Amino acid sequence: HYSFFTWYFHNLPFSVTTSSNHSLADTAMNALAATSRNFRNAARILGLDSKVERSLLIPFREIKVECTLPKDDGSLVTYVGFRVQHDNARGPMKGGIRYHPEVDPDEVNALAQLMTWKTAVADIPYGGAKGGIGCNPKELSNSELERLTRVFTQKIHDLIGTHADIPAPDMGTNAQTMAWILDEYSKFHGHSPAVVTGKPIDLGGSLGREAATGRGVVFATEALLAEHGNAIRDMTFAIQGFGNVGSWAGRLIHERGGKIIAVSDITGAVKNANGIDIPELLRHKESTGSLKDFHGGDPMDPSELLVHECDVLIPCALGGVLNRENAADVKAKFIIEAANHPTDPEADEILSKRGVVILPDIYANSGGVTVSYFEWVQNIQGFMWEEDKVNNELRRYMIKAFHNIKGMCQTHNCNLRMGAFTLGVNRVARATLLRGWEA
Ligand code: GLU
Repeated sequence: HYSFFTWYFHNLPFSVTTSSNHSLADTAMNALAATSRNFRNAARILGLDSKVERSLLIPFREIKVECTLPKDDGSLVTYVGFRVQHDNARGPMKGGIRYHPEVDPDEVNALAQLMTWKTAVADIPYGGAKGGIGCNPKELSNSELERLTRVFTQKIHDLIGTHADIPAPDMGTNAQTMAWILDEYSKFHGHSPAVVTGKPIDLGGSLGREAATGRGVVFATEALLAEHGNAIRDMTFAIQGFGNVGSWAGRLIHERGGKIIAVSDITGAVKNANGIDIPELLRHKESTGSLKDFHGGDPMDPSELLVHECDVLIPCALGGVLNRENAADVKAKFIIEAANHPTDPEADEILSKRGVVILPDIYANSGGVTVSYFEWVQNIQGFMWEEDKVNNELRRYMIKAFHNIKGMCQTHNCNLRMGAFTLGVNRVARATLLRGWEA
């Protein structure tokens, strides 16, 4: 019984890649369950009608597409791509596209939902979305990445758009990825620079966008520390993740005199109690591609970074890294969530009981999407801003959001996470109710 199909598949250089299981699956709560739990708590605090609550929780649209492309060696490979459009009550849906082996539908769903609350907290006129492809971009050549991005864009081009859904970079993607999406999208719809943000400057990207998430993290940190009578220059920091967000946050904290005593990424970790020279570490990573063998500090076990002695811990990498396994051992007094959902609800509870102050992701890392909004505004206006204007506006948005969150914390007697969630959910619920449903 050797069917044609068996023969066909055995004779094609063909493989289907599926995303690997989440390595944190055993210790961290599923991202969607965690995000939805925070949302439900906020809905309860706000006294939201249960029907409205249900409609806000369920995504507007979930897209799952096959992306098959020839590899450089001529063999075929198939990836699965997702775009979850969570909500559009406040404006077009907005959020990054992630290329990572651990991308799965639940995670993309959770991240899309977080974008809805994030854009509402930032008070920018967007809803929320997120996309992802379960792949390892480090194992793909540049031309394979280009083909993958173009195939994915072909599959979703009818569902994104300047006034519908606007992608941006996230883990594993960058300005070049956005340039390919823009080019592919424009073949179908005509030149449309505002369909993506985080573009190269030459294609209508905004000055300051690349640094924006890290810069926003630093403005947020300054606001929080000031509240507690502290300043960046008096504090020690540990940073997990040295990609776009971690390296920009590190650079700006270093410029402000903050002492960064430990840094880790997937290649390794380095510590120095006297403070790491971040510009040197950046040069080292640039030239060697790794944090290993850096002479300005001692090597350390990357798994120790989260429990390293420091005042401020800044996770800038994956979700779920703080969980019931390590929360009790965290030494930091402040956690700034530069990553999306780094703290699992179980860890949240343990850390809160211990008096650790957590600045939540939907506020702390909102600088990226805020400057994405400025980029989109500039594209629509056809007028480019100076970098100073971008950075000053970003500071204004970050400070305003911080005070809005504190206001909710006072009104509802809750922590910063619930302050941010109630702020975001309330704004989305109000917009939803004002628009109404079909009678
Ligand atoms: N991927 C970033 C985030 O998680 C930026 C999204 C955007 O600029 O649309 O917030």
